[in-house]
Amino acid sequence: MTNTLEFKSSFINNSEKKTALDTEGRDLLARPRFSLRLHLLLVFILFSFLSMAIIIGSVIAISSIDKKMHFVQTSERYLFEIAQARRWEKNYFLYDTNLEDAVQSAGNAKTFLSQNLKKFITVLSAEETAGMIEHLEKYRSLLQDLQDLTVLKKNGIENTEKKNKIETSLRKHGAEMVKVAAALVYKEQNSMNAMLHLIQRIPIYCFAVVLLLTIFLARFLVKRLIRPLNLLIESTQRIAKGDFSPVPPICKYRGEFTAVEVAINQMCRELKSREVAMVESHKLRAIGTLTAGVAHELNNPLNNIMLTAHAMLEDHNNLSEDGLLEMINDLINEADKSRSIIRNLLDFSRESESVSEPLDLGALVGETIKLTLNQAKVSGVKIETQIQPDLPRIRGDKQQLKQVFLNLILNALDAVEKEGNIKINVKKADSPKFLAVQVEDNGCGIPSHILPNIFDPFFTTKGPGKGTGLGLSVSHGIITMHRGQISIETEEGKYTRFTVTLPFRTVPAVLNKT
Ligand code: ADP
Repeated sequence: MTNTLEFKSSFINNSEKKTALDTEGRDLLARPRFSLRLHLLLVFILFSFLSMAIIIGSVIAISSIDKKMHFVQTSERYLFEIAQARRWEKNYFLYDTNLEDAVQSAGNAKTFLSQNLKKFITVLSAEETAGMIEHLEKYRSLLQDLQDLTVLKKNGIENTEKKNKIETSLRKHGAEMVKVAAALVYKEQNSMNAMLHLIQRIPIYCFAVVLLLTIFLARFLVKRLIRPLNLLIESTQRIAKGDFSPVPPICKYRGEFTAVEVAINQMCRELKSREVAMVESHKLRAIGTLTAGVAHELNNPLNNIMLTAHAMLEDHNNLSEDGLLEMINDLINEADKSRSIIRNLLDFSRESESVSEPLDLGALVGETIKLTLNQAKVSGVKIETQIQPDLPRIRGDKQQLKQVFLNLILNALDAVEKEGNIKINVKKADSPKFLAVQVEDNGCGIPSHILPNIFDPFFTTKGPGKGTGLGLSVSHGIITMHRGQISIETEEGKYTRFTVTLPFRTVPAVLNKT
């Protein structure tokens, strides 16, 4: 089974300065404060106001229902007195009795009306109230007239025509009075019923408003609480993957999370500076590995120099001028070879700032292979190189890219047994405008269960003192910074092929700054 893995994540920009992070910390703290505590206090105040409004509203509604009930009772009492007066009035016309009672009831109605005039005016219009008073007054005066007729009748003077007239008028005004009073009672009862209906619904409305407000505020608070937490979790996951760039402000205002953000940024700064130190130490390890091979490689030219120098010392008197010149040329050539071997190593070990320059990728890979040739020779490993001619130049940092290819070759050397084989291929990539460098070995392969971790910083399967676990994580960072990608194909026990693709048109912005 062949396992493949491709990485495109962001890169840790080691050149970011401490001062930039300090400024970020200051910026985080300079924002206006709006803490979660204040949020909760505002929510509490809002709910308190809402509860107060509901209580006040209910008290007002209940007191106005109470007033209405009183008024209904008042108007019912008025209606009762009028109806009573009308009953006595009918008795009078039927049986000639109860006229005094009718006068008494009409008087009661009048007293009642004048006592509650203000209340009546607030419910009825001033005109309607005036009409009501007028009918009552008229009714009372007609009853008075009837009383006068009764006195005359007792004295033997009977005026039937006037009595009939009074009866007609009494009926008319009486009916009007009852109609207005009944309408008044009906109106008030209706309005009271409507209000009761409303009061019955108030808890439902309040519940709906409180529910909606609670949902809105809960969502708002969750946003203010969960979102920053999620962002912090994302940031810590990013940090765990080796991206130590500072946490961006997670919300507009300064709050409880600001201290966490500042602390995480401080931690990132620390981790970044330690990572730089670790990268350097990884480089030193690679140099250590290479030194044995380089020493071996230096041995040959130095031996030749020694032999030639001894020969010159012993035979300088017998040597012809041409022979002497030839030997001096040999010395110069051998010294030159040694110098180029040492320069190559020094070139790799030199600490330098990131520099973007046009690069011949084939030549760069070739120089890197040279550094490892003796190591391979010592281990009995064959390195086959295929470099496609006339490849376009890429832009990038020579030192950093050399470090990537060196890491891949040294890993391949570690993976193969004696008599192993490493194939290095530099060619145009399948995707347009990209070049590819493939480093393939027929070594142990990478087991699928560790494949997702091999780019994690400090992940190594090599024994103590042999691996730092930084080679691939550093290489991944460098390639991402060059807008490239690293992919792996591997089969346990058979082979591993790392493919690095690099663009040959676009100039990486990060490198361009330098
Ligand atoms: P180190 O080489 O210091 O262990 P790296 O980050 O370079 O750190 O590699 C991480 C791990 O990936 C190695 O320990 C090894 O298990 C695995 N690995 C890398 N390259 C190869 C390879 N060519 N063949 C098999 N395993 C490899």
